[in-house]
Amino acid sequence: MKLNERGLLIVLSGPSGVGKGTVRKALFELEGHDLVYSISMTTRPPRDGEVDGVDYYFVSCQEFEERIKNDAFLEWAEFVGHYYGTPKDKVEDHLKAGREVVLEVEVQGALQVRNKTKDGVFIFVAPPNKEALYRRLLRRGTESDQVIQKRMDKAEREFPLAHKYDYIVVNDEVTNAADRILAIIRAEHARTERSIHKYLEMLEVIEHE
Ligand code: 5GP
Repeated sequence: MKLNERGLLIVLSGPSGVGKGTVRKALFELEGHDLVYSISMTTRPPRDGEVDGVDYYFVSCQEFEERIKNDAFLEWAEFVGHYYGTPKDKVEDHLKAGREVVLEVEVQGALQVRNKTKDGVFIFVAPPNKEALYRRLLRRGTESDQVIQKRMDKAEREFPLAHKYDYIVVNDEVTNAADRILAIIRAEHARTERSIHKYLEMLEVIEHE
């Protein structure tokens, strides 16, 4: 039984190359949840196999900057030469409808959301060690050496920010990490502050609003 009506905003974040995308996909393949993925907008060119409207909405710089002006993003950030942002409209609609929305964002964006909303659950996806992160970025084979180095330098600056999150999930094995995230989501639902009002209403201890 679900006692809270508003959906949870789940913010998956952490350094580039840690495997947030892979973990997020594994999470969506698990049974027993009602998660919606918030598709981000970016000015980065698509990688081979990436599909517009599935992986990202790929837009021009001009279009992105126009949307910044119109306050159309819940958060946005510039990351290694490109813009990335979360379109705001759909996120709020889903939350109001009681669905869980998953954002997959880099660290600056996660911290913007943290400052703006009170109902987010912030999960830092961490690599088991630095070498694993470097190997992942190399193996992906989509970026030049220079870009890989920039992403590693950025990761070094992001590690200490993990203390601003509610949870740290080490991505040692993708399926383990996805299981832990689902367990976190379930536990968050049972939090007293999220469910007490509805529970007392149900028992007619307080009046229905
Ligand atoms: P990539 O170019 O590897 O797809 O993404 C670069 C970084 O941007 C990753 O850490 C990814 O999680 C992050 N990212 C993707 N979408 C968003 C978004 O909407 N907002 C922010 N702030 N970061 C994002």
